[in-house]
Amino acid sequence: MPYTPAHPDGTNATQDAPASAQFGETVTIPARQGRAVRVAKGQTITVINPRGNQVCDFWALIDGSPAEFLSMEHTRTALGRIYVRTSDVLVTNRRRPLIEIIEDTSPGVHDTVIACCDAQRYEQLGAEGYHDNCADNFRMSLAALGVTPTHVPSPFNIWMNIPVAADGSYTWEAPVSKPGDRITLRAHEDCICVMSACPQDMTPVNGVGVMPCELAFRVV
Ligand SMILES: [Zn+2]
Repeated sequence: MPYTPAHPDGTNATQDAPASAQFGETVTIPARQGRAVRVAKGQTITVINPRGNQVCDFWALIDGSPAEFLSMEHTRTALGRIYVRTSDVLVTNRRRPLIEIIEDTSPGVHDTVIACCDAQRYEQLGAEGYHDNCADNFRMSLAALGVTPTHVPSPFNIWMNIPVAADGSYTWEAPVSKPGDRITLRAHEDCICVMSACPQDMTPVNGVGVMPCELAFRVV
């Protein structure tokens, strides 16, 4: 079977997710699921980590032109580093400013290096049967809005703690964020933001001995 980037390898309740959010309403992303929401140019989206241990895989695609998306490789080129800071502007694969970090109450440890988890990753880790995953959450969240992605981009991994050593090696560590931490992002273009409460429970990215849990977001 030829690979179709928009087609999920399996499904969960994300596919029945509400297709939108009210302005200013705080929306829960249940554990192991994803949500997509339209964010207009100039609006902000705040992602909230209620328990503090949960990683959010975050994507943004230009509304009406989903082949242009927030790109970690282009962002690293633009920033000259692999870690982001408050007031950084993250760019698309066409090098346009798209997402500006305007507030971050956490210690600021996020990842721009690691691909999102997918069904194949869990197969390789030894999971039995289908395992919820961020790639499928991305696909299902967009399908709920009627959007067909042409690619599953590398996500901005909010609160994911992947320290890179001087020799280039890295390790998987638990998040250092605390309960209630939030990050606020401003859209520089009309876009669709997609968030996945990463269901990774086979490496400690969501905390040592801690189960994947919910996230929340708010568009203002
Ligand atoms: Zn994941």
